[in-house]
Amino acid sequence: MKTIDLVVPCYNEEEGLEHFVTETNKVINTLPDYYFRYILVNDGSKDKTYLVMKRLAAKFDNIKYISFSRNFGKEAAMYAGLQHCDADYVVVMDADLQHPPAVFPQMLEAMEEGWDCCATKRDEREGESFFRGAFSKLFFRLSNRMTDVKNPYGAMDYRMMTRQMVNSILELSEVQRFSKGIFSWVGFDTKWITFKTVDRELGKSSWKFSSLFKYAIDGITCFSVTPLRFTAVMGAIIFVLSLIYILVTLIQTLFFGIQTPGYVTTLCAVLFLGGLTEMSIGVLGEYIGRIYMESKDRPIYITKFSNFEDEDNEEK
Ligand code: UDP
Ligand code: MG
Repeated sequence: MKTIDLVVPCYNEEEGLEHFVTETNKVINTLPDYYFRYILVNDGSKDKTYLVMKRLAAKFDNIKYISFSRNFGKEAAMYAGLQHCDADYVVVMDADLQHPPAVFPQMLEAMEEGWDCCATKRDEREGESFFRGAFSKLFFRLSNRMTDVKNPYGAMDYRMMTRQMVNSILELSEVQRFSKGIFSWVGFDTKWITFKTVDRELGKSSWKFSSLFKYAIDGITCFSVTPLRFTAVMGAIIFVLSLIYILVTLIQTLFFGIQTPGYVTTLCAVLFLGGLTEMSIGVLGEYIGRIYMESKDRPIYITKFSNFEDEDNEEK
C-alpha cells in the first residue's frame, strides 16, 4: 500500500482545524488504496491551535504534530513538515480548506502516470482586487524572466510530490525560504492542474498587502542577481552619457565662453544621480542583508512539542 503524508502548516487555525481534518478524511475514505498521514505543524499560534492538534492526535492515530516555540512563518512550517515525512508521496496544503482535498484523486492519477509532482494553479481570481491581481501578474512575469524559476501565473504551493523530489527540496536548507521558487528550482516533471479558488470559511488570512510586497521582493532576490546587474548596467550607461555631456560642455566652454546659467542642469543632475545612487545602495543592501542572515546559519525553526516517537519532547 502506498503511503501519503499531508504536510499542513497551521497558524491560528483553532476554528478551522477540526473541520479541515473532517473534510479531508471524507476524501481519504474514498481512497482505500492509500494510507494517509497528517503532519500538522503549529507555527507558534497565538490561539489554541496546539490544543486542538493534541486532541485530534489523540482521536486519530494517523495525526502527527510538531509545535514551534514561536511563529517562524509558513515557509519554516512547510520545511519542518517535509523533514518529518517518509511517505511515498507528500502533499503540502493549507489548513483553511482553500486547498481542497477533493483534488487528491486527480493528483494521485498524475503521480501514478509517472509525474514527479502534481501542482495546482488557480483558475479564476475571484474576490481579488484589481490592484492585487495586476500586482501578482507583474510579479509572475518579472520572476519568470529574471530567475531560473519558471512558474505559471497563479501557481500555488498546494501540490503532491514524490519522496525523491522532497529529498531534493530538503537539500536546499537556506534560512530565507521561498517555496514556490524552491519547488521549481529543483526541477522534476510537474503537471499543473487548475481548480476554482474558494474563500476561507473559518478563521482569517494572515496576509497583508505589505507582506505580499515583501513576498515579491523575496521571490526575485532569492533566485536572481538581475537587480544587481541592472544597477551596474544603469551605472555604465550613465557614465557613458555623462562623458559625452562633459565633452560637449568642455568644447562649448572653450570655444564659446562660459554660459553661467546652469541652475536647472545642475539641480537635475544632482537629484537624479543622488536618487539613483540611493537606489543602487538599497539593492546592494538587500543582498548584503540576505548574506548576513544566511551566514548566521541559524536553524529554520525550533520545536517545542511534537508527538514523533524519535523526538522525545511530547508535553507530559
Ligand atoms: N500559516 C503559517 N504560518 C504563518 C502564516 C500562515 O503556518 O505565519 C499557514 C496558515 O495556517 C495556513 C497557510 O499557512 O494553513 C496559509 O495561510 P493563509 O490562509 O493565512 O494565507 P492565504 O490563504 O491568504 O495565502
Ligand atoms: Mg488561506
